[in-house]
Amino acid sequence: MPTYPHLPESIRSLSEALSSLPSLGPRQSLRLAFYLSQRDPENLKRLSQDLINVGELKTCGQCFFIHEDKNQVLCPICRDPGRNNKQIAFIEKETELLALEQTAQYRGRYLLLGPLEKNGLLNDLQRSRMQTLKKFIVQELGSSADEILIALSPTRYGDHYADIIKKEFSTLAKRVTRLGRGLPRGGEIEFADDETLGASLEGRN
Ligand SMILES: [Zn+2]
Repeated sequence: MPTYPHLPESIRSLSEALSSLPSLGPRQSLRLAFYLSQRDPENLKRLSQDLINVGELKTCGQCFFIHEDKNQVLCPICRDPGRNNKQIAFIEKETELLALEQTAQYRGRYLLLGPLEKNGLLNDLQRSRMQTLKKFIVQELGSSADEILIALSPTRYGDHYADIIKKEFSTLAKRVTRLGRGLPRGGEIEFADDETLGASLEGRN
């Protein structure tokens, strides 16, 4: 952030914080900070409370999705006895998990991988999440899940990851499937409509 004469310290500090967010450059951050300075203070208080609240969310110990119940290790999806815990879908982003839930056609569980690496290799966090799932399958499912569903977007990186997951889990699941039919090549799951996603779930192989 360049130093400007007459730039109030609070604006400078806020714009610096904003510029650490994805896809916000220094100039846009500065503009946004000035914009926010003109908002109703009550509005801003709510915004700051929202920021504090999302900072206090917990990560599920099994699927790594976030949830609000501080007294629970697992999220409501993993705790739901009505769901099939022998069926596990690999997901990249939280928003994609929500999109699959929206279809109401998938009743298994998830493993949230986090952003795929552009080199197509697992990072340490993803490696440890996969280890957690392997342990779960060995200890809780007698070393055999019914299905590992690779619900990663059909992009080049998604394909790399799909290969790794197939290799790692082929002996730990009766079948390893991938979302496919209906999703445009290179398209992202979070932008697919319910119907397309639903068809893709049905047509997985
Ligand atoms: Zn969970």
